[in-house]
Amino acid sequence: MVVRIDSRTCRVLTAEGEERGCTPPGSWFQDKTRLNELIAVGDMVEMRLDGDGGVIEAVIPRTNVLARSAGHRQRLLVANLHQVVVVGSLAEPPLRPLDIDRVAAGVIHSDITPLICLNKTELADPDETARWKSVYAGIPAPVIVTSAATGEGIEELRAALAGRVSAFAGLSGVGKSSLCNALQAGLDIAVRTVDRRTGQGRHTTSFTELHLLGTDAWIADTPGIRVFELHDCRPEDVAPCFPEISAVGADCAFNDCTHSVEPDCAVLAAVAETGNGIAPSRHESYLALLEERRQSGSR
Ligand code: GDP
Ligand code: ZN
Repeated sequence: MVVRIDSRTCRVLTAEGEERGCTPPGSWFQDKTRLNELIAVGDMVEMRLDGDGGVIEAVIPRTNVLARSAGHRQRLLVANLHQVVVVGSLAEPPLRPLDIDRVAAGVIHSDITPLICLNKTELADPDETARWKSVYAGIPAPVIVTSAATGEGIEELRAALAGRVSAFAGLSGVGKSSLCNALQAGLDIAVRTVDRRTGQGRHTTSFTELHLLGTDAWIADTPGIRVFELHDCRPEDVAPCFPEISAVGADCAFNDCTHSVEPDCAVLAAVAETGNGIAPSRHESYLALLEERRQSGSR
């Protein structure tokens, strides 16, 4: 498994558990191709040992890959992610559902499973926490309530990360770095946070790395968290990123229903239904992202 990519070489963890510096054969580098266009951390590769290092012979087909466009080129960020932990804060700052829903939608759009982590629970009103927990249980996605400060939920989070490759996402200040530290002291992941205005990370590095947590949990440390936003997405692609909305939407009168103003819309009916319907905050986020995609399409 590729655990780190630098500009010219990558580090591969072999089946025997040793890390080796490797490169693909020179013939893979056509037309100034960069290494990060060919392989990503998380890639499983076949390699041939060569001295202290190795030569990559094949990349085993990926289950998914996150990439960022750079001009006409695609820079690969992480391959074969099992899940993205979407972190939101229950208090200080208060939970803003659109921030969580925007990232969760981007994760789903990339065919990756979100895991919702609601942090800073010790600062929050328990009734509010329970309410948000049920909103996100409806997605459906696993929901874990944590406090990096008191340790609540950390074991549950650790169990969810075991045996998987994960990445953390969420706005600055929600507690991503603190959670990583609570999971493993000294796990010094400067989890990249993104400035919403510029889309740039606060810290940028030239490499992406997988960190080992315990014995079998891998955390991807990538500056590319912003790829989880719904870019390259048409307005009609927004509903499938809200699985509970698109499931109910099958019962709408119009099969191109946008669940916003149409008559006989099953989604609008489910939003109006209190209790076990669709959470109003989720529907509001859906409408906000739908509008954003329409605006960006008409520009
Ligand atoms: P990041 O930007 O998402 O990595 O967030 P940080 O981990 O840097 O945390 C932002 C601030 O929130 C810091 O002051 C942390 O000490 C604080 N913080 C993080 N998790 C918790 C928590 O569970 N409870 C409380 N009270 N504070 C927290
Ligand atoms: Zn509808």
